[in-house]
Amino acid sequence: MADCIFCKIASGELPSDKVYEDDEVVAFRDIAPQAPTHILVIPREHIESAAKISPDNSRLAARCLEAVARLAASEGLDGGFRIVSNVGGDGGQTVGHLHFHLLGGRKLGERLA
Ligand code: AMP
Repeated sequence: MADCIFCKIASGELPSDKVYEDDEVVAFRDIAPQAPTHILVIPREHIESAAKISPDNSRLAARCLEAVARLAASEGLDGGFRIVSNVGGDGGQTVGHLHFHLLGGRKLGERLA
């Protein structure tokens, strides 16, 4: 999508601190980290949010989660971690390109909302 910042990060048009990429998935460090490890994992293909995951594209969402698992291990998050995907305004989504937050590196709060 022309004016999607995560599409631009995926294509390299915008800079990012990339920690993983392949032909379908890109992962980069969040610009405003909320935990010692805060990585965003996205599909290269523009999917608006988790609300738009369907049988046509669910393989890409699964590939993102595979990357999350690998990155959690390589970041040494042996004590656990959290995966978050905000959806829409009420869900707190600010970038309209499906992304999974990988958060860890300290004991996270018990409240989710
Ligand atoms: P959400 O609010 O769930 O849509 O998450 C969007 C996330 O993207 C926020 O945590 C932002 O800090 C992060 N973010 C926005 N722009 C960038 C960027 N250029 N590079 C890295 N992370 C970004």
